[in-house]
Amino acid sequence: MSADPRQLAEYLRFLRELGVEDTAISSDIAARLVAANNSPAATPPAPEPASPSAKAAAAARRAPAQPAPAPRPAQISMPGNDSFPIALADASGPGRADGADPAEQLRQIRADLGDCTRCKLHAQGRRQIVFGVGNPRARLVFVGEGPGADEDAQGIPFVGRAGRLLTDMIEKGMGLRRDDVYICNVVKCRPPNNRTPENDETAACSPFLRRQLAAIRPEMVCALGAVAAQNLLGRRGPIGGFRGTVHRLELEGFTTRLVVTYHPAYLLRDPSQKKETWKDLQIVMRELGLPLPARS
Ligand code: SF4
Repeated sequence: MSADPRQLAEYLRFLRELGVEDTAISSDIAARLVAANNSPAATPPAPEPASPSAKAAAAARRAPAQPAPAPRPAQISMPGNDSFPIALADASGPGRADGADPAEQLRQIRADLGDCTRCKLHAQGRRQIVFGVGNPRARLVFVGEGPGADEDAQGIPFVGRAGRLLTDMIEKGMGLRRDDVYICNVVKCRPPNNRTPENDETAACSPFLRRQLAAIRPEMVCALGAVAAQNLLGRRGPIGGFRGTVHRLELEGFTTRLVVTYHPAYLLRDPSQKKETWKDLQIVMRELGLPLPARS
């Protein structure tokens, strides 16, 4: 398997930033870095000895002194390789036996939303409605608070700095593809000056979020920040009171699981909380049966 040393190094740096240190993955990556740097592409081969006896002697020197290591329990590779990130979508999620087409359902919900004027955010400078993006059959959905300036400009959730961090969390941290999850927000229009959405705004918009989730029927929902957590769980409280628990999320027609973590925008302001976020993401990974970095 090919390995790009720069990709591996970046992956290792990101894991360390999340607090994943001294792990089997780290050891594996370090070994790959060494292997990549010693590969034929990186190191020109030594000239072959001229005589048959010299060739035999050289072959003996190249023979491994140690027995081959046992295969690792989980294959780890980097984005861009066939085996990584892990394909998460299109597995038989809990709702897929009903024969419904979630992509069509999402199109219908978007059509029902229309050029929405149901709350005052429609008249407070929004450029467009930011509905959601990702795989309609995703096993995992991330729910944020509301669009920011970049999202408002592009019509896609989580595409600014916080969005890039979320993408790193998904791809470098969890080993998934962003395209395989679904990402949306509680409110679909940008609050002015990125203020927190107000109660009447979340109340007007959240039925559409719940319909989105009911259409996708993910196995897990990850609420990013207190606004998303409070809205989905229907109760107030600080984010610390929601974290560290797998909640039941009741939606029309089905029940799923929900984990709460910090919003990426908060992590940009306080990077020390990335380690805590990594703990939350590991809960999600465990619940979904995804391979976790093992302590060495
Ligand atoms: S935030 Fe939601 S409810 Fe309010 S105007 Fe936008 S789409 Fe409509």
